[in-house]
Amino acid sequence: MNLSTLYEQKKCVLSFEVFPPKKTDDVRGLYRTLEGLHDLAPDYISVTYGAGGSGEQRQQTVHLADTIKREYGIEPLPHLTCINSTRETVLALLDELAALGIDNVLALRGDRVEGALPGAFHYASELVELIKSRGGFSVAGACYPEGHTEAPSLEEDIVHLRRKVDAGVSHLASQLFFDNAAFYSFEKKARAMGITVPIAAGIMPVTNKSQIERMVSLCGASLPDKLAGIIDKWGHNKAALRDAGIAYAVDQIVDLMASGVQGIHLYTMNSPYVAKKVVGSVQKLLCDLNCTEA
Ligand code: FAD
Repeated sequence: MNLSTLYEQKKCVLSFEVFPPKKTDDVRGLYRTLEGLHDLAPDYISVTYGAGGSGEQRQQTVHLADTIKREYGIEPLPHLTCINSTRETVLALLDELAALGIDNVLALRGDRVEGALPGAFHYASELVELIKSRGGFSVAGACYPEGHTEAPSLEEDIVHLRRKVDAGVSHLASQLFFDNAAFYSFEKKARAMGITVPIAAGIMPVTNKSQIERMVSLCGASLPDKLAGIIDKWGHNKAALRDAGIAYAVDQIVDLMASGVQGIHLYTMNSPYVAKKVVGSVQKLLCDLNCTEA
């Protein structure tokens, strides 16, 4: 199913993000993850794409997306980065996805690698243009409620975001954030600057201290005092921090849903336990929103 239709049909779309297993991981672990996530009936599951974009990484993403569709009957959204790719590799990958009946793609630039030679693509908007000119795919894009780390200002980032959307993006999935006020402010600015497509809010439940420190330094998400206090208090106790992190994420989601968010994109970190706890706590709200459609 074309995901843009899904956003038209539902008031609040629920999606998960998973990543392909490492070479050394037990593949049964991945199947356990998918079984657990499948039970939560997400509207779609997105699959990350190795930043290096090597042939093997590409195949892992395609294979996992195909498994999600064929074996679990859930719509997959494979990610596709372009910074280290040629137009030919991108087109070949799109042909492969199309042959598997996959017709949604999350178009990304990918992180710049220092010293790498400039390739065919500089920005995600160029990838979006290529996919749209090929035809046959609904294209999603990424957005950054607190601004992308390379952008001089949030406003400038939104100017570029508008260009990407105009190139043919039909919905946006946001970078993770912990401060809903930042998301609301970004959404308001994006709407004022003419971006009208649905924006799904990226939520990552905090489950361990080092993971969150790494994410915050990588993506520049601000850490509200309330969450910093939780990490301070329970950072030493894995199980307690996991419970507190889940409760914090649920609180964020309830507030977002009450404010009319069009989608929740849950960064599951391949943990069905955490996804189950979070989704279990908001299932009735989701059902109320989506079952009272006109
Ligand atoms: P772009 O939209 O191209 O933006 C990148 C930067 O360039 C921004 O600062 C923007 O303001 C600026 N810019 C854009 N256009 C122009 C222009 N014309 N002129 C000047 N500046 C411009 N990475 C992976 O490697 N694999 C994944 O699977 C993956 N999944 C992700 C999923 C989500 C939901 C998100 C939010 C991010 C994901 N990333 C992933 C990370 C992403 O690749 C990086 O954040 C990357 O640095 C930017 O990608 P983008 O598609 O947002 O780039």
